[in-house]
Amino acid sequence: MQINFDNTYGNLPKNFYTQIKPTPVVNPHLILFNWPLACDLGLNVEREELQKIADVFSGNLVLESSNPLALVYAGHQFGYFVPQLGDGRAVLLGEVVNTSGARYDIQLKGSGKTSYSRGGDGRATLGPMLREYIVSEAMHGLGIKTTRSLALVTTGEPVFRDTILPGAILTRVASSHIRVGTFEYFAAQKDFESLKILADYAINRHAPHAKDSKNPYFSFLEFVLDMQTSLIVDWMRVGFIHGVMNTDNTAISGETIDYGPCAFLDEYVPDKVFSAIDSYGRYAFNKQFSIGLWNFIKLSETLAFLLSTELKASAAIIKELERLFIEKFHEKYLEMMAHKIGIFIPDEKDGQLIQDLLNIMEENYLDYTLTFRHLIQNTGQSSWALLKDFAVPRGFQQWIEVWKVRLVSQGVTHDEVVALMAAQNPILIPRNHRIEEAIDFAVEHNDFSKANRLIKAFSDPYKNNEEFIDLGQPPTSQQRVYQTFCGT
Ligand code: AMP
Ligand code: MG
Repeated sequence: MQINFDNTYGNLPKNFYTQIKPTPVVNPHLILFNWPLACDLGLNVEREELQKIADVFSGNLVLESSNPLALVYAGHQFGYFVPQLGDGRAVLLGEVVNTSGARYDIQLKGSGKTSYSRGGDGRATLGPMLREYIVSEAMHGLGIKTTRSLALVTTGEPVFRDTILPGAILTRVASSHIRVGTFEYFAAQKDFESLKILADYAINRHAPHAKDSKNPYFSFLEFVLDMQTSLIVDWMRVGFIHGVMNTDNTAISGETIDYGPCAFLDEYVPDKVFSAIDSYGRYAFNKQFSIGLWNFIKLSETLAFLLSTELKASAAIIKELERLFIEKFHEKYLEMMAHKIGIFIPDEKDGQLIQDLLNIMEENYLDYTLTFRHLIQNTGQSSWALLKDFAVPRGFQQWIEVWKVRLVSQGVTHDEVVALMAAQNPILIPRNHRIEEAIDFAVEHNDFSKANRLIKAFSDPYKNNEEFIDLGQPPTSQQRVYQTFCGT
């Protein structure tokens, strides 16, 4: 195996990270490896060298080109500022640049203690790492920006939580690990020199176009707001609840990062919270926009001194960015919801049409995913086995009649409407009960067949595949998952 790591982050000043080797593990065993992703990344890996893959992606074998680093960052966790967090159980092995010129971080998660472990053991357990693997790859299948999962290795070591659990290491691939919290770390120390270095690095890596603009830092923030608003709209499109939108879990690239207690809506409950640690519903499904904005303002504030040398002027610029964030989000949200119901270009009345539908869904606890597929079926598609138990509530048919008139008014073909809707509305989402079932099975029986089946099914979630009909069904009352846990 040959990986040519390139380490631009390691060339940043020493106060951005600590150099640290992963702590070796007793018995690394490769459970999952994402061959298509390895290929996209241009990694030179052969199927004959499974043990070597396990050694590299457990951290037991550090390749020569690698310069392992734990990155420092801070963060607002549930609204409270923690001045120093950092990779407490992760190391960045290095960056790779693929044949298209895209740069990615390759990071081990669960690789042992670092100087940022704050009393933690630096380790991760199989269940949550498998969960991140399945859900992040499902997000990718859904077409939503996300970190990816390259490898899952069990360590052969026990990890002590409430009970003794099998240890595991996940290899995470991200277009970078720069978070809002990375900026907050330097801002809290009033280290303006490092902040500028970080901002310039982030611009070079993620938004090089910003360099040519009149105010590069404003353009950079415009880029971040564009990415963040698109991301949250995409989450809402598929009913995803991140669950811990702390600023340290908000990547400036606009990728979904840190799959802790995240979950997907079954029935439509707009203020739904699954996370056991989110007692006040700060990160509820319908709060994700306002939290995204809050996080974005925190980022903007750290760069205030670069936006203008005058305090008043930077405050005005941040206000303008806030306005833009709100405007962009609402624009994108309306367009996304319109597309979900087959409307190409929404007009001012469509907002109400969409709200009426959401009200019917909320009042009747309709399944978020199946409702939109039911609508596609109502445009004249043949009926699907998946929808045979979908109960149509009173009042819904009336809405459908109004909606159909609106569809016809567009002057586009029926096929075009169906294609638009089918591209927005997945058939399969990683339903919580299915994920939990696959994880329990893997942890209890060391059998990954259910997990592998999910990974395969979710790689193409818009396809009507008879083989996976069971995965499209909502949970029965016995299968229902009420709470999700971070599992750190
Ligand atoms: P997370 O909840 O995964 O976003 O983690 C929040 C912070 O806690 C990050 O700084 C992590 O590195 C750190 N952390 C989480 N679990 C552990 C652990 N087992 N050992 C050390 N640090 C950890
Ligand atoms: Mg985190």
